[in-house]
Amino acid sequence: MTTVPASFFKHRGVRVEVKDLSKRYRIGPEEVHALRDTDWAIETGTAAAIMGPSGCGKTTLLNLLGGVDRPSSGQIKIDNDDLTSMSERMLEKHRLVNVGFVFQFFNLIPSITAIENLELPMVMAGVSDTECRERAQTLLSLVGLAAKGEKRPEELSGGEQQRVAVALALANDPALILADEPTGNLDSTNAAAISTLLRGLAEDYGKTVILVSHDPKTVEHFPKVYSMRDGQFVAAA
Ligand code: ADP
Ligand code: MG
Repeated sequence: MTTVPASFFKHRGVRVEVKDLSKRYRIGPEEVHALRDTDWAIETGTAAAIMGPSGCGKTTLLNLLGGVDRPSSGQIKIDNDDLTSMSERMLEKHRLVNVGFVFQFFNLIPSITAIENLELPMVMAGVSDTECRERAQTLLSLVGLAAKGEKRPEELSGGEQQRVAVALALANDPALILADEPTGNLDSTNAAAISTLLRGLAEDYGKTVILVSHDPKTVEHFPKVYSMRDGQFVAAA
C-alpha cells in the first residue's frame, strides 16, 4: 500500500524476551497480581498479537516492555539488554529511542495539523526543520494520508487519526512498536486496516510489532496470536 522504501528506516526490530516476569500492584491492603511469573518471547522483526480479556495484564505487559513501568520481579530482555537492571536514565533512553506506542485514543494534539503532530517528536529529537517536514510527509504517505497533512485531528475520521498516530509512533524510527487496543475505538473496516498496517511494519520494515487486544477480529490479521489469562500466557484456545 505504500511506496516508502525500506531504507527510510535505519532501525530494524529487536528481540524481546520476558522471564519469570511478575507485576503486583498494591491498592490499600489488597495486592493485585497483574502478571504472574510470565515467560514469553518474540523474535526480531516479527509481528505478534496478544489476546485476552480485560484485566488479564496486557497493558501492564506493554508498559513494562516500553519501560514506562518496572516489574516486581523477573527479567525483560530487549536484544541483549536487561531493562530490569537499567537506571532511570537508561530506561528513559529506551523509551525515546527504541519504542513507539500506539493507543486506543489516538493521542494526537488537537490544535495542530497532522503533519505538525508528526514533526513534534522529531523537533524534540533535534532533527532540522527541513528534514522534519520531509520525514513527516514520508510517514504520512506510508500510512496512506499523503494528502491530509494540513488537516487537524478533528477534521480527520477516527481511522485516519489512528493512521496518523501510527505514523507518529514511527517518527523517531523505533525498533519496537507497542499497540495497546489500537482498534478499540474504530469500526470494523478501519480496525482491519489499522491491524494490517501495524502487521506490515514488521513485514515491510523489519520492525518488531506487539499488538494487544481483547478483540478476536483485531488479532486475526496477525501471523502469530498468543493468549493471556490472569497475568499469564496460556495455550491458544
Ligand atoms: P488489561 O490491559 O489486560 O485489561 P491491565 O494490565 O490493565 O489489564 O490490568 C491487569 C490487572 O492489574 C487488573 O486487575 C488491573 O485492575 C490491575 N492494575 C493495572 N494497573 C494498575 C494500577 N496502576 N494500580 C492498581 N492495579 C492495577
Ligand atoms: Mg489494557
